[in-house]
Amino acid sequence: MAVADQAFVTLGSDDDYCQGALVLGQSLRNHVTSRKLAILITPQVSSVMRAVLCSVFDEVIEVDEIYSADSMHLSLLERPELSVTFTKLHCWTLTQYSKCVFMDADTLVLCNIDELFEREELSAAPDSGWPDCFNSGVFVFRPSLQTYNNLLQFATEHGSFDGGDQGLLNSFFSNWATTDIGKHLPFIYNLSSSAIYTYVPAFKHFGRDAKVVHFLGSTKPWHYTYNPQTRTIMHDGATSGSPNQFSFLQLWWKIYYANILPLLEKCQEMANSESQGQKHVFYDDEIRLKNETPLVINSLQIPTFLEQTSEMDITASAPEEFDNKITPVVPQVEQRSSEVRLPEPNQPLEQPVFHPAPQQTLKLDETAHHISELSIQLKPEAPNAEDERKKWEEGHIDYMGKDAFEHIKRKLDTFLK
Ligand code: UDP
Ligand code: MN
Repeated sequence: MAVADQAFVTLGSDDDYCQGALVLGQSLRNHVTSRKLAILITPQVSSVMRAVLCSVFDEVIEVDEIYSADSMHLSLLERPELSVTFTKLHCWTLTQYSKCVFMDADTLVLCNIDELFEREELSAAPDSGWPDCFNSGVFVFRPSLQTYNNLLQFATEHGSFDGGDQGLLNSFFSNWATTDIGKHLPFIYNLSSSAIYTYVPAFKHFGRDAKVVHFLGSTKPWHYTYNPQTRTIMHDGATSGSPNQFSFLQLWWKIYYANILPLLEKCQEMANSESQGQKHVFYDDEIRLKNETPLVINSLQIPTFLEQTSEMDITASAPEEFDNKITPVVPQVEQRSSEVRLPEPNQPLEQPVFHPAPQQTLKLDETAHHISELSIQLKPEAPNAEDERKKWEEGHIDYMGKDAFEHIKRKLDTFLK
């Protein structure tokens, strides 16, 4: 029975983290959750990513990364390192829901976990590094503007002892460790990948009951590459982590390849055809995959850099779908400005610009950006620097005039001197 006033909530501040959020959302769908799925995003999430998010999540909510409204928010601005943390706090503003479960974008559910909604705020599992603290990757909470404001107030007065949301939330909900054991979620609801190899016997004993795996730490599943031919998962040219962790990584990649990549590709294709002049309207059901059987991929190409890899064999439990030829390259789109614009049925997407060779183009873009600023500086009377930059980015470059190489060189020379 669907419960409309309760939701799983996650956060993705950029396209990378949104890939994790998509896999998480899909894993919740695969296990037939009866709750809504909501995601908080920030303005830099691309329009293609937003379209894909809309097909997996019931609600895609844009929030500001840094506040600027009143004096309290101004003091937050002096702590830029906490901005993502504060973005997470926005989950308390989702008062359309009576109760929610927040889950980091780097978590993955292994079975239905709807029973978490029987718990009260603030329920969370112990952190494997310091078990008197809870890990803030999975927690049950009640949206409330009052709590939200108290949290902001607390944050401005006390900051966060670890610089992130976990330190802040542990200080705010400081009686978690001692007051109510009902608020201690079993560790299997937030099994950190690090705990898998720090306490192997426990993992062997309890690991099969794991319900949520959390890829915490700096290396996230989307930082790896998967070679479907050699069935290897690689990071920085080498495999890392324990074999046990690999089966979770494999599962992450399996969902990514089977359910998420096809959506990304489809949306990219549509946006490509749009940028070539054929207007395409995104209909919700065109990209909808909610509660549907996973797609099977069979006609995509493996990028050559993936073909070169061959390391640890994880054949034992490698899923069949991995034999298909797939490319884990995420569509790269131009960064968007800050207005809220989510694709609605019958509403065409704002025209995104796609680059054929992502990495390289990014560099070119950066160069264009710098040079365009240079040309703006060369021409102090430029009426509008933003317009000038836009022209550059659109390829309208005044090679013979203000953007001529000799002008740019002269400017560079002044820097070098
Ligand atoms: N997050 C984000 N963008 C960032 C960093 C973090 O959207 O640049 C969100 C995302 O949901 C992520 C969560 O904040 O899962 C917590 O960060 P992370 O998982 O990287 O921390 P860890 O669990 O590794 O300590
Ligand atoms: Mn995390």
